[in-house]
Amino acid sequence: MKIKAITIILLTLLFMNGKAQENFELIVLGSGGGTDDGNLSGYLLSASDSDKYLCLDAGTLMHGLILATKAGHFNHLEKDTNTEELPAHVLHHHIDAYAISHTHLDHITGMLIAAPFDNEKKIFCSPKTADELMNYIFLSPLWANFTTEGKGAIGKWELKRMENKNWYKVPNNQLQIKSFDLCHSCPNTSSAFLVKNNNSYALYFGDTGADIIEGENKLNEIFNEIAPLIKKEELKAIFIEVSFPDSQKDQHLYGHLKPSLLESELEKLAAKVNSKEIDNALYGVKLFITHLKPNYSIENNSLPIITEEIMKMKHYGAEIIFPKQSEKHTF
Ligand SMILES: [Zn+2]
Ligand SMILES: [Zn+2]
Repeated sequence: MKIKAITIILLTLLFMNGKAQENFELIVLGSGGGTDDGNLSGYLLSASDSDKYLCLDAGTLMHGLILATKAGHFNHLEKDTNTEELPAHVLHHHIDAYAISHTHLDHITGMLIAAPFDNEKKIFCSPKTADELMNYIFLSPLWANFTTEGKGAIGKWELKRMENKNWYKVPNNQLQIKSFDLCHSCPNTSSAFLVKNNNSYALYFGDTGADIIEGENKLNEIFNEIAPLIKKEELKAIFIEVSFPDSQKDQHLYGHLKPSLLESELEKLAAKVNSKEIDNALYGVKLFITHLKPNYSIENNSLPIITEEIMKMKHYGAEIIFPKQSEKHTF
């Protein structure tokens, strides 16, 4: 009887521990790096015990919500509406804000196309991204001004200009978000977003070049900030782009990464986390590889080449994941 009781306690502790390790839920609306307009960067991130999402980039939005609905990821919300209306219900009542890394079309198109149907939301972004959205889209003939500012403001979207490295609360949501500047073919910029749920973190990179190619220190600065979080096992996942295979010449990277450059950047991060045991320094981190640029040549299809090169590189203990559209992940 005593042994049975101890077993039950141990099993309960194990179960609770297993549960406690799942801090975030992720639904992939799109993960591609271009060409395929139905599968562009867009990720729904929530606390694992919540159905309130932050949308990280929105290259693909409604199409991704429809596919995620078909995959059953919103079945638990169906009581509030019927299946046909479920993607719209999620857009209106479960996506609390967007976080837009930069204004390239493959990161904003889904959001823009859904604008006439969307409801009031904040768009978290850098001041530069906000100004570009205003000047080149909302205050131009390209599209109506769906924001709350400037001429002809329809008043749906409030642009939240984030100061670099400051924490912001996502409205109606337990997540907090902080942004870091990135170089995306300098002087073009992009942002990385660190998202916090209690004492757990996930780091999402928008498009970025390597420090050595960009001649800047942006990734290094972020690594300084996240290395202590990895040491404390609080950083659960990193989303980072690898757009091209290693055969892509450095002068044709256009502010993107390739496998060998990711490996050298990871080495720098691993050294900051644990210089004595660098090979396993990133253990416990899920490394999501995003933004692979497809190339539709049968003989030279870049997707399997990039995947193979990534799998062959040093991972420093991180678990490599290639997120596919309409998948759900927890971490
Ligand atoms: Zn870009
Ligand atoms: Zn992109």
